Amino acid sequence: MPGNAPAARHQGNEALSSESRTNAPIALRVIPRDQHTLSRKDISQGALRVLYRLHEAGHRACLVGGAVRDLLVGGHPKDFDVATDATPEQVKKLFRNCRLIGRRFRLAHVIFGPEIVEVATFRGTGDGEENGDRHIVDGRILRDNVWGTIEEDALRRDFRVNALYYDIGDFSVLDYVGGIDDLHDRVLRLIGDPEQRYREDPVRMLRAVRLAAKLEFRIHPSAVAPFAALGDLLGEAPPARLFDESLKMFLAGYGLQSFRELERYGLLQHLFPVAARVLARDADHAVRRLIEAGLANTDARVREGKPVTPAFLFAVLLWGEVRDAAEAEVAAGVEPTLAWQRAAHRVVAEQSTRVAIPRRFAQVMEEIWALQPRFTQFARKRVFRLLTHPRFRAAYDFLLLRAAESDYQRQVGDWWTWAQGATHEQVAQSLAQVQQAEPSVEPAATLSEAAPAAVAKKRRRRRRRSPSAAGGAAAD
Ligand code: ATP
Ligand code: MG
Repeated sequence: MPGNAPAARHQGNEALSSESRTNAPIALRVIPRDQHTLSRKDISQGALRVLYRLHEAGHRACLVGGAVRDLLVGGHPKDFDVATDATPEQVKKLFRNCRLIGRRFRLAHVIFGPEIVEVATFRGTGDGEENGDRHIVDGRILRDNVWGTIEEDALRRDFRVNALYYDIGDFSVLDYVGGIDDLHDRVLRLIGDPEQRYREDPVRMLRAVRLAAKLEFRIHPSAVAPFAALGDLLGEAPPARLFDESLKMFLAGYGLQSFRELERYGLLQHLFPVAARVLARDADHAVRRLIEAGLANTDARVREGKPVTPAFLFAVLLWGEVRDAAEAEVAAGVEPTLAWQRAAHRVVAEQSTRVAIPRRFAQVMEEIWALQPRFTQFARKRVFRLLTHPRFRAAYDFLLLRAAESDYQRQVGDWWTWAQGATHEQVAQSLAQVQQAEPSVEPAATLSEAAPAAVAKKRRRRRRRSPSAAGGAAAD
């Protein structure tokens, strides 16, 4: 549709030159080096080298965005972004270890071993005759490669606290939009008209929630107000981008808080409709407890520097629906292995229309889920086979989270914990006890060899109840 392009571009320019963007009076506030706390010793070696090299070559070079924000509130940035008036090609000429990336948003990556410093050229508004291109359709920015001034670059950023610059030329902090005030007030406020900024890029709604969770800031009411009307636009965001954004939300150490804020602001349903649906019918809060325990566990692992995987995260978020669907099928007479497979596939497929879960993670999730019913099958052969299953560890970690679901699940978890430390004979003996367990034997309250008896007894009781319970849940 080449005929539509000029119209779309025109519409975009109109939108961008509204009072909230380029025509707004800009009051630059310069905070000199002795009046702020941002110190060069907190900046990565790689970022400093990039800043100095650009500066020596006669370019303007600033640290910008999340790094400046985090350093000013005493945090530790996870990456350092640089903004400059040098074009990507000029940056590339200055650094041997540099590659140009991106189409929608062209950038230079300067690589120092494990560290990548992202170098972006100041973006303009596209009003003038600059070189480069910007593409806007229905108010949404699809491409943003128009070079501009540092003031324009500040205005096209999302939140005021994200538009602060640390200038390597004189070590001052530059504030074009009131970001310093917001940092002081611990509030996230959009630059310009909130509705227009969310329409340009709906993912900014998720960024608001994520940054509020990460920084423990509040979201300004003006930035919250459009969520109800515009949340639906997230359905049109590319699922691969929502996957990346989900990882930043949930695997960076503040996942539980992100989850709570997503729910609080009514955005969870747009990102994880499956989880939102289960939580809506989760009368005894068992699913909520499991999700919260899973996210808290992941946050703790991140803090301890242990590895975390998206597979576990999504297994936790989607579990309630998979379990209910599988149990309903089993109750309807479907063979259990097939029932679990079908339920897992269906739920993953539904979630993937929103957040693209790469196949390699989906496979692990499906294995973790499929092993869950096997933890309550205490036939001797099956128990020993499960203990040596290659996916036992991940499935067992997941089982432990399910202790949040019920006392029964906690006892099952306890037994498997005990079984891993017990000898082959002890496990065999414990299982023999299950077969002979008297119905009158009291459930063992503590972790011991007697636990399987209690577990088996409970299971008998649960079984009689479960077809209607499972069917009832799934029919909601
Ligand atoms: P984090 O601490 O998670 O890295 P961040 O704010 O640095 O948070 P990045 O994705 O690294 O997030 O982006 C760097 C900067 O680029 C932001 O601070 C902001 O100025 C700008 N930016 C990022 N995404 C957008 C967006 N969708 N719209 C406008 N500006 C954005
Ligand atoms: Mg960043």
